[in-house]
Amino acid sequence: MPGHPEYTSPRPVTATLVKLHEWCPLLAWLAANTAPGIAPTPSMQQGRRSHAPDELTRIARQLGLQHAMVQVPLHSTRHNASGTIDILDPETGTIIEVKATARRRPHRSHLAQLAVYTLLAAENNLHPRRAAIATPEPRIIAELPIDHHTLQWAEKLIHRTRRTIDNPTPPLANQPPQKCRYCTHRHICPYPNT
Ligand code: SF4
Repeated sequence: MPGHPEYTSPRPVTATLVKLHEWCPLLAWLAANTAPGIAPTPSMQQGRRSHAPDELTRIARQLGLQHAMVQVPLHSTRHNASGTIDILDPETGTIIEVKATARRRPHRSHLAQLAVYTLLAAENNLHPRRAAIATPEPRIIAELPIDHHTLQWAEKLIHRTRRTIDNPTPPLANQPPQKCRYCTHRHICPYPNT
């Protein structure tokens, strides 16, 4: 398996890698340790459309966040972690992650990603007071409490993800077929259940 061209150690962890890790640890390992070039799935293409800056600005305005910034990159030196927040309103301390394909209840992996954004905002003195997941309609479908439990959870998620991707051996996985069928990395996965 070819190594990732940007391999460094200790590895930086992104909020996206944390999300993948909560979905399937092997998927996070493959995303971090193999060369890019995976064909986007239909849901990824749909997600990209809903993450265009104009579209994120429309969603922010309709949610009442008139002065929000979109696609805000943040980094935590303490945790060597980073992520790009879809919508960030510094005035109200609101963080919004937009999910084009989310169902009524988001998957735990989406909440994990949001927890990492909350930690990144807190570490950058942006004083987060509300963290939510929205669909493009827009409709808020989930919120995370802004408290020390969420921040501690985010720290654990980052460390757990780093432990997995830093390991030279891919983790074992036994995922249900409905996960593997549309997985971006199924063609190079050693344990696909398709
Ligand atoms: S194909 Fe299945 S087991 Fe392999 S990385 Fe994807 S979700 Fe995980």
